[in-house]
Amino acid sequence: MKTLDNWIGGRQVAPLGGAYLDDFEPATGQVIARIPDSGPEEIDQAVAAARAVFPVWAGLSVAKRAERLEALAGLIERDAGRLAELESLDTGKPLTLAREIDMGRARANLRFFAQAMQQWSSSSHDMGNIGFNYTRREPLGPVALITPWNLPLYLLTWKLAPALVTGNTVVAKPSELTPLTADALAALSLEAGIPAGVFNLIQGTGARCGQALVDHADIKAISFTGGTVTGRHIAATAAPRLIKTSLELGGKNSAIVHADADIDHTVAGLMRAGFTNQGQVCLCSSRWLIHESIYEPLVERLVEAVSALKVGDPNEPDNSQGALISAEHRDKVMSFIKQAKEDGGRILTGGETIQPEGRCHGGYFVRPTLISDLPAASRLHFDEIFGPVVTLQRFSNEDQAIELANSTDYGLAATVWTRDLATAHRTAARLQSGIVWINDWLVRDLRTPFGGVKHSGLGREGGNWSLEFFTEPKNVFVSMR
Ligand code: NAD
Repeated sequence: MKTLDNWIGGRQVAPLGGAYLDDFEPATGQVIARIPDSGPEEIDQAVAAARAVFPVWAGLSVAKRAERLEALAGLIERDAGRLAELESLDTGKPLTLAREIDMGRARANLRFFAQAMQQWSSSSHDMGNIGFNYTRREPLGPVALITPWNLPLYLLTWKLAPALVTGNTVVAKPSELTPLTADALAALSLEAGIPAGVFNLIQGTGARCGQALVDHADIKAISFTGGTVTGRHIAATAAPRLIKTSLELGGKNSAIVHADADIDHTVAGLMRAGFTNQGQVCLCSSRWLIHESIYEPLVERLVEAVSALKVGDPNEPDNSQGALISAEHRDKVMSFIKQAKEDGGRILTGGETIQPEGRCHGGYFVRPTLISDLPAASRLHFDEIFGPVVTLQRFSNEDQAIELANSTDYGLAATVWTRDLATAHRTAARLQSGIVWINDWLVRDLRTPFGGVKHSGLGREGGNWSLEFFTEPKNVFVSMR
């Protein structure tokens, strides 16, 4: 069993009190590693290291910083097999998914921001004979990056790349449930030539370690991805210090299937949108709203497709569904299914846990589940379940579909399925959502704004939005008189 340390100032450092937490493999329920149970002292050391090296890193040319990020992307490519294994082991996601999606995206994040920063231009505003203004974009200092367990390396690199390339130094805290790839990334960052102390990594719980990080007086900005309750708490913590926060939070995303949708294409799309990563993607469509004229035949197709999903050992390439992240999360998902039954919902397929034969017998598996006929007020339509559970509702006209879709507190990502251009654009315009995909799901262009409205977050990531978040504009006026 592996024992991890923190990474402070380029060195592996054991937790001060010698306290560790267990890291479980979701597919087996076994302990696979121990991680530091860090607190305020370790955070203090990491922020001090990040502060000390900030002038050096910020003083490098953009080209030099971009070069180090490109080198890190190259190392992720070199080690993709090993990193994908660690990610699958730690999250319970299928190994093929970790290889194809998570590792590809981690590399792409670093390369994208390395290149984007070299294309970014600052602005100037001419005042004729009086003079002119130019606007510098200056790094902030040590920044905090806090990430969840569902896409560990994917989301950490999504924040790390723009933070570093703009000249900030970093103290990162990954989820205590998925520490492994962040630890590997910290080691690779040194090999890539990123100076010691530029990227510090502290492992521990949210309540003690994460809280100490967001409380720290020398942290200049917080980029957070996680649940809405935590995000709201972080915003309240940061507000009195007037520091920037970027909050990417939960979702309860609708898919609207209009009467004229291409059925084969829609079934394939909904399967991805509902069940990728066992439904544990903030963008997953977990409410499928279907026009009444196609409801019965479409639901029949969907039940067939969902029932055919293979669940089990993430190492078996045939299994498209792995384990949920923890026993606690599995129980939470199952409590929603129990609630659905109590509310009078019909479980069309799934609705139960699975104990596979062999090495994964103790893993946290839930069969992909479709639920229909819930009363309109059931909380399954409104609360984020974040698992392989989708609810079905029918609508009779466009207004009703929009009303249902907009009826939750969240507003992250919606999908619209139709062959009619006007219907597609009209629906997209009326949805309260930061992101809308028409006839597709999770197609990402890293230049576009990513984030949610309402309780799904505050601010946007991606392209210039990330570069702006991690810098402060300073306007300089030059007199010509
Ligand atoms: P979480 O909010 O429990 O934890 C996220 C991170 O915050 C973890 O590292 C945790 O240790 C830390 N944390 C917890 N309490 C803290 C505190 N008081 N101070 C500082 N840090 C603290 O979320 P989770 O269960 O890890 O992730 C699932 C959630 O993340 C879901 O709601 C999902 O929708 C959301 N998510 C959103 C996006 C997005 O881009 N909008 C992407 C992925 C996941």
